[in-house]
Parts: sequence; C-alpha cells; structure tokens
Amino acid sequence: MPATIRLPRACPGTMNARKLARMIETPDSFAPGVIPEPAASGPTWVCVVQDSRVLVLEDNGQLAPASLALTVFEAQAEKHYLGRLGTQPCWLLLAPPDAAAPPGLVWQGLRSLFATLDGAHLAVLTRALQIAEWSATHRYCGACGVATTEVTGERARACPQCGRTAYPRLSPAVMVLVTRGPELLLARGARFKVPIWSALAGFVEPGESLEDTIHREVREEVGIEISDLAYFGSQSWPFPHSLMVAFTARHAGGELQPDGDEIVEAGWFRPDALPALPTSASIARKLIDRLATDLRSGSARA
Ligand SMILES: [Zn+2]
Repeated sequence: MPATIRLPRACPGTMNARKLARMIETPDSFAPGVIPEPAASGPTWVCVVQDSRVLVLEDNGQLAPASLALTVFEAQAEKHYLGRLGTQPCWLLLAPPDAAAPPGLVWQGLRSLFATLDGAHLAVLTRALQIAEWSATHRYCGACGVATTEVTGERARACPQCGRTAYPRLSPAVMVLVTRGPELLLARGARFKVPIWSALAGFVEPGESLEDTIHREVREEVGIEISDLAYFGSQSWPFPHSLMVAFTARHAGGELQPDGDEIVEAGWFRPDALPALPTSASIARKLIDRLATDLRSGSARA
C-alpha cells in the first residue's frame, strides 16, 4: 500500500458542485443487516454492481429499476442483503464479470451517481460497493488458494480447507487541515487530473496510531511540524475501502516544502480566497468549509 493516499482519484473536480449530494453519510433510518428481517417489508431497492461499476439507466443516470434488475440478474448474480432503509429492504446483486448491460442501461462508476442519487441511497450504495469489492476479491483463500464459501449469518467468507475466514477489509486513512493564524494549508496532489486543492492525507501504516500517521504524513509531504491535533469527524470512502478520519491542527514550525512526488504544490490560503476544492460529497470538503467559515467568523481556535 502506498504511504500516501491518492486523493486526486477520490476527489473528482470536474463535477458541478451545485448538483452534488451532501456529504456521504449513513442515515439514521438505515439498519444494516446480513439476513433479511420482517421489518424490511417495503419495496425492494436493488443495486447491481460489476467491477465497481453500477447498473444505471442510460438516459438519466438513475439506478436500474429494482424490478428490471431482479428480472435480468437475480438468477445469475451473487446476492447480498445490505439492510433496510426505513422499511425498504436493500440488496446488492453482484453481476458476473462478463454480464452485458441490458438495452437502455449502462455500467457506470459511483462518482456519476453523486449527482443523481439521494444522499440516503448513495450511502447504502457506497456500502454495497465495498462489500462487492471484498466479495469479488476473496473468492479464494489467501493462505492456501482453495475456493472460499459464504458464512451463513455474517459478512464473511471462509476457507473449507484451512479454516481461514476473510471479513470485509477497511483501510484507515487520516486527513488533517492545518491552520496558521487566519490561513488554511491546502495542497495539490500530483495525480489530480484537474487542479484540486485539499487537506493533507495518508494511509495508516502498521504500528502507527492515527496521530503518528498525521505527523509523519505532514513531515513527508510538506516538511512542517504541527501541534494541537483535534478530531473533526470520519467518513467511509469507498475508493475502494477507506475509512477517512479527519483532524484539524495548527502549524508549529517550518516552511512548506512540497515533496514533489505526492504533493506538487502547497500553500497557505485565506478563507475568502480558496482555490478549487474537492467534491462536497467528501469529508475533505466539509472539513475545509467548516474551518473556512470559522476563520471568517473569527471563531476558529486561535
Ligand atoms: Zn485456506
């Protein structure tokens, strides 16, 4: 795993921000589950996934209707119950890799649905995509190579030969937005196709606490020291299975020296003169917006 998270791919900058859904957050009305329950008696909601892409209507980008999805794919797809949204049972159908999209439908990436799906269903879909990715990449035991089987009653796949059990994996990552007086530290990653500026971020490495990762990443990427770490929030980020944990911090010393590898530019920005920012579906944007608002109003930590 790379030491630094690939923020550019996770933060598309080409979408119209006015059309984007609110930040991806699981709603209180969602009750996760593995086995269908009686309370899930409403109309079925289905997402059909193939290779991290979702089946949508070609003309408007909405999810394929449940009736159509079930008619076409129920017999050939791997099914996963996700839980219920209110009374609505939510299902993932994992289509075979070579299954063609029916006429009038296409396979599209999750980002295309940021603008078309409501926030609640978008959150369920991001969960579904992580389960789909895990299931598709754990068909064989990582220890002995024998085909795994689903474990009844839990989200797991087990090896019938050596007993190894594989659960959906998460890759924890941290994000930190550093302030210096009235300014925010934003950086532009090397992999951005369009120039998007965001907070610094990176994956947690074995043996590290979240705090260790933040200090290491900030030193590696821009060469400064920080202090006063404060937890801000977290977000599941399905590209493909991150848990992003966001913090704020203060500049404690040193001049910005972008590493030139992961980070090509970094700078201190006043809240009334911010550059192009990540999508509003991301916690990165929520973090930046919140601190920028606080700095404008003078309520940020001094
Ligand atoms: Zn095995």
